[in-house]
Amino acid sequence: MRDMTRFNPQIIQGHVSYTIREIVKVFGINQKTCLRWIAEGLATVPGKKKPILIYGSDLKTFIRQKNSKKKVTMERHEFYCFKCKVPRRAKKGSITKKGDTKKAECCVCSTKMTRKIKPYRKDYHIPSTPVQTSTLFDNLI
Ligand SMILES: [Zn+2]
Repeated sequence: MRDMTRFNPQIIQGHVSYTIREIVKVFGINQKTCLRWIAEGLATVPGKKKPILIYGSDLKTFIRQKNSKKKVTMERHEFYCFKCKVPRRAKKGSITKKGDTKKAECCVCSTKMTRKIKPYRKDYHIPSTPVQTSTLFDNLI
């Protein structure tokens, strides 16, 4: 149940780097949770081990992803309908495949829906976005 907590990315300042202790304070979480975030893909500042530092902008992105990840879990046969704002089944016979994209119409409102076909299926997991360290450094200097 604790995992359902949504965190507010707005309280993080993008141009500041945070230590684990600071993140713990800001979000009122414990250190273990923060370390788990890092294990889950929260990027740390390269070359900085003691103390571990995390860019505010990376933390914001991570929190946003984390929040959005909880909103939708789709079954293999479902599509996300942007009109209904929920995962929907496709209308019978409306599914078409093109490359690695599947298209279909919502069974309720007939809105066109698309979804990527994954080459392999790991339990609905969004890989963490690669960090553009160069631009981050440019912002800091
Ligand atoms: Zn719909």
